[in-house]
Amino acid sequence: MEQVYIGLGSNLAAPEQQLDAALHALAQLPDTRLAEVSAYYSSAPLGPADQPRYTNAVARLDTQLAPHILLDHLQAIELQQGRERKAERWGPRTLDLDIILFGERIISDERLSVPHYHMQARPFVLLPLAELCPADFQLPDGRQLADLLSHCPVDPTLQRLHTPQLSAISSVDPDTDD
Ligand code: ATP
Ligand code: MG
Ligand code: MG
Repeated sequence: MEQVYIGLGSNLAAPEQQLDAALHALAQLPDTRLAEVSAYYSSAPLGPADQPRYTNAVARLDTQLAPHILLDHLQAIELQQGRERKAERWGPRTLDLDIILFGERIISDERLSVPHYHMQARPFVLLPLAELCPADFQLPDGRQLADLLSHCPVDPTLQRLHTPQLSAISSVDPDTDD
């Protein structure tokens, strides 16, 4: 089992419900356990400003899946939830699922960059991640999470919302509860 941290984000079509549904889907992945979820955070968009605010969170998975297989599953969940891939970078989306950390691995190929290349610049990743990690957490490349946090730009738009209940997320199937 490896501990994997997933960054979740949405700014279209009821973002909090998109994250709820994504967590439910993550809990159903094969050879994987949804172990922990941070609070949800709301913040102004990165990139093009003429789009709604984002809701973000970080989840920890314990998984036996290989990194690229997990990425395939994450992209399938994005598509199931109506993600459209557009040319515009960082444009609005129903769901974004990024691998922030994958155990002790450092991956750099045409499909995967892990640790996530931009995590150090994103308060909406670092703050929820820090909720799930010990204070002295060290990344596989030697960086300390506490250092990334202290050097990260402050986002005055960031608001911490509620923490989702894992038990409710894992047990309710949105497709069969009607
Ligand atoms: P950003 O990566 O800056 O957060 P984004 O999440 O909007 O931008 P996407 O359109 O979701 O970018 O993904 C573009 C490509 O990024 C994917 O096709 C995937 O192969 C690649 N990618 C590289 N590293 C990762 C990672 N750690 N997690 C998810 N996708 C990744
Ligand atoms: Mg992203
Ligand atoms: Mg992405």
